[in-house]
Amino acid sequence: MLKENLANVREKINIACKKVGRNPDEVTLVAVSKMKPLEDIETLLETGQMEYGENYVQELCDKYEKISRPVHWHMIGHLQTNKVKYIIDKTVLIHSVDSVHLAKQIEKEAAKRNLTAQILIQVNIAEEETKFGLDTEELLQIIMEISKFPHVHIRGLMTSAPFVADPEENRCYFKKLHELFVDIGKKNIDNVTMDILSMGMTNDYEVAIEEGATMVRVGTGIFGERNYNK
Ligand SMILES: *Cc1c(COP(=O)(O)O)cnc(C)c1O
Repeated sequence: MLKENLANVREKINIACKKVGRNPDEVTLVAVSKMKPLEDIETLLETGQMEYGENYVQELCDKYEKISRPVHWHMIGHLQTNKVKYIIDKTVLIHSVDSVHLAKQIEKEAAKRNLTAQILIQVNIAEEETKFGLDTEELLQIIMEISKFPHVHIRGLMTSAPFVADPEENRCYFKKLHELFVDIGKKNIDNVTMDILSMGMTNDYEVAIEEGATMVRVGTGIFGERNYNK
């Protein structure tokens, strides 16, 4: 079942790419395993799926300790500064950096371990009150500031689009974030490489790909519904 779901999502990624003349190799699928058991990840590992996204620091650390083979962990949830130290050397990419304050802490912890943290800047592209992420007006300024940290490497942008019934409603937001991504990339800022655009979830990843996503984060579409009442 899980493997079938994954194959289905991959097929849909291929179709979306084909529709707009993109190479599916340009799109990385992050399987969002939050609140799902380790066994599910172990099963998908058999297919070669290497990228997994987690939202909660404790859960990421638990799975990191227990998994039989190393995988590429992505921190996609809101990150508190006091928890950076737990995940800094366990993740390949932190998607959810939304302040200089947080980046500064990442710099500090990365420097301590002599590593360079790969990060994305989270943008609240639809400017929803309830969402984390930067407003577009402050984005460039904050990227400039974070780019000065030697142990932090900005790789691109990330957003969680609004929850909508029809994914077409989010197309304008994906388009807008892609434009920002390209514009900022053209500025050739030192220590900033705009090569990852993380947008699109179960409900809207195909539209996100059509609009230029290079990374999609799919949970429910692979693992099934999450039970938040457990
Ligand atoms: C939970 C989550 C996802 C996956 O959501 P689905 O709708 O289950 O695909 C993707 N990105 C973020 C930031 C999330 O919190």
